[in-house]
Amino acid sequence: MTQTPSNTLLFYLKGVGPARAELLGKELGIKTVYDLVNFFPNRYIDRTRFYKISELQESGAEVQIIGQITSISTEGNNRSTRLKATFTDETGSMELVWFQGIKWIKTALKTNTPYVIFGKANQFKGVFSMPHPEMDLLLDFQKSLQTAMQPVYPSTENLAKKGVSNRVIQTIMQNLFLEFKSRFQETLSKEILDQNHFIDKNTALFQLHFPENQELLKKAQWRMKFEELFFIQLQLLRNNLIRKRKIKGYIFEKVGDYFNNLYEKHIPFSLTNAQKRVIKEIRKDMMRGAQMNRLLQGDVGSGKTIVAVLSAMIAIDNGFQVAIMAPTEILANQHFFSVLELVKNLNIQVRLLTGSTKTKERNEIHEGLISGELHILIGTHALIEDKVKFQNLGLVIIDEQHKFGVEQRSKMWKKNILPPHILVMTATPIPRTLAMTLYGDLDVSIIDELPLGRKEIKTALRFENQRLSVFKFIRDEIVKGHQVYIVYPLIDESETLDFKNLMEGYESVVREFPRPQYQVSIVHGKMKPADKEYEMDLFVKGKTHIMVATTVIEVGVNVPNASLMLIENPEKFGLSQLHQLRGRVGRGANQSYCILMAGYKLTDEAKTRLQTMVETNDGFKIAEVDLKLRGPGNIMGTQQSGIINLKIADIVKDSDLLKMARFTAFDLLKEDPNLEMPKNANIRNTYKDIEANMGIWANIS
Ligand code: ADP
Ligand code: MG
Repeated sequence: MTQTPSNTLLFYLKGVGPARAELLGKELGIKTVYDLVNFFPNRYIDRTRFYKISELQESGAEVQIIGQITSISTEGNNRSTRLKATFTDETGSMELVWFQGIKWIKTALKTNTPYVIFGKANQFKGVFSMPHPEMDLLLDFQKSLQTAMQPVYPSTENLAKKGVSNRVIQTIMQNLFLEFKSRFQETLSKEILDQNHFIDKNTALFQLHFPENQELLKKAQWRMKFEELFFIQLQLLRNNLIRKRKIKGYIFEKVGDYFNNLYEKHIPFSLTNAQKRVIKEIRKDMMRGAQMNRLLQGDVGSGKTIVAVLSAMIAIDNGFQVAIMAPTEILANQHFFSVLELVKNLNIQVRLLTGSTKTKERNEIHEGLISGELHILIGTHALIEDKVKFQNLGLVIIDEQHKFGVEQRSKMWKKNILPPHILVMTATPIPRTLAMTLYGDLDVSIIDELPLGRKEIKTALRFENQRLSVFKFIRDEIVKGHQVYIVYPLIDESETLDFKNLMEGYESVVREFPRPQYQVSIVHGKMKPADKEYEMDLFVKGKTHIMVATTVIEVGVNVPNASLMLIENPEKFGLSQLHQLRGRVGRGANQSYCILMAGYKLTDEAKTRLQTMVETNDGFKIAEVDLKLRGPGNIMGTQQSGIINLKIADIVKDSDLLKMARFTAFDLLKEDPNLEMPKNANIRNTYKDIEANMGIWANIS
């Protein structure tokens, strides 16, 4: 068998040996030469110039100097021994200092022999000294692979302890290139290389480890980042293609009376262009003959409900039933009433099924589903119980996707001949670039436009010393007949403490807004679900003026009469959470407000978050800021996906390259969906390797 980079074990590489091979495998997962060459530096030290001792400045920069050791001495007593060497060039002298490994270093150092030293020089009483310099004999330095910039590799404590320093890794890498240079397979096609003026794979790899200069390094990084993103996108898009070919779906060919009637006669407003576009996308998807798997993203209040209901009409027009699932009973209730309102003149049977549906009603519903008399069933996860059997379920609409797992979803279509079309709606905007990687194999529709005339929620940042005027503001809103939310943070780690804050807050609110003039509700996580629903219901019906709550009200609740959202200690919330909370107001005709009652000690990041809230109401803009602040790994839903563990590219910083990679992959698959064309042989081979070796991309979605 010929030795190729991917089948040659590290062990065989010069300078590695069994012990180091095992250590590198354990610490960094590097097993083959291929793994090693794909272990990239995370920074570089520019060693393009040499300094003279007389030129040294106390700048903290790392510098390299050529000179000789003229004398060596050991100083201090037992506990604080230091090794000192005087280092001299033609312009002056300085000190080199060691605190550890003294014995060994002392015997290794050669006097009156030219060295290249490298490190940070500090000034002490007018003399420069460099602690623990990196040292090479000038002769060795000149013999080594001549590269101007030094790679610095990621390391671990264990590696450092066992003597596998950056220098050691560099040497191993050097050996790798001496042995395998130019034997790395090109992964991209000539077409893509030419179109984008990319450098070839072998040059890119070499320049990435041993850059000759900044410009070549940049070119190498550019190409390698593209390659990484390209193959992810290729795989995501291809999975989507394959799924569409494999998973057949019902064909809703007709747009009939239900849809047309609702569309033309019974919508009390005109749809936004974004709503129209999205409905078209969904319609097209449901007549393709493949199962629809679509994510509908739209900011709070962007009007997702009507899109869902119109989609339901298409299913019903084609003789199918529809299920709408919500994460909580309150939300299911609200959906039920808003759907009823929209379809009331259309002779459509809609029922609600939740945990509190009585047995008698439940039985009626079961019968109506089986006979096909029932058109739309709305509910909580009660919908996925085994007893719930549809005659012909054609479309499932899931609101607030993060609450329902994929597993639960598929439970619903076990009873079907074909899987129903799936529309998942989410009000948590995800930046487009992140969506491209996270949901790259789903189809995504975005409502990026709010209905005309929607008023911005005026948002203000306030501090404790302004509390009296804030309370007055609340009173004024209540006098106008409006309702108010006051939200306290509840964070897992210090739940008891937060709970105390909440109760104290509640008491002070009740003191400030006494009964019977004011009625105050409270909802928090420690209450029984039934009590929660009861209190919520009082507020929904307008029987209480103020709702004191923890974030349990975050999702979906609709009380159009609420016009003020006061958030206590908003610095403890994440941006998307703040945005969701704010979205609880501004749902009616009234001008609405959000007051952020901040603590005094704000970190810079917290300030940015709060300022962003004050400046914009746009959920997508907020999501972009959130992504920049926290990085992709911390955005909801990304942790499990593994997709964010990129080797070299960065979703935030390389977003343009990501888009380019996606378009390139898209065009390629359009022309050659099975990667069969001879010109795409490199891509096909790499793709197969990735599929075979790194299943990590296989289980996303
Ligand atoms: P969300 O996307 O948050 O679920 P909804 O569907 O609940 O938003 O819609 C929010 C409000 O906006 C509802 O009262 C709805 O009737 C209204 N609405 C939806 N679309 C439009 C539109 N095109 N023009 C005016 N109002 C609309
Ligand atoms: Mg909604």
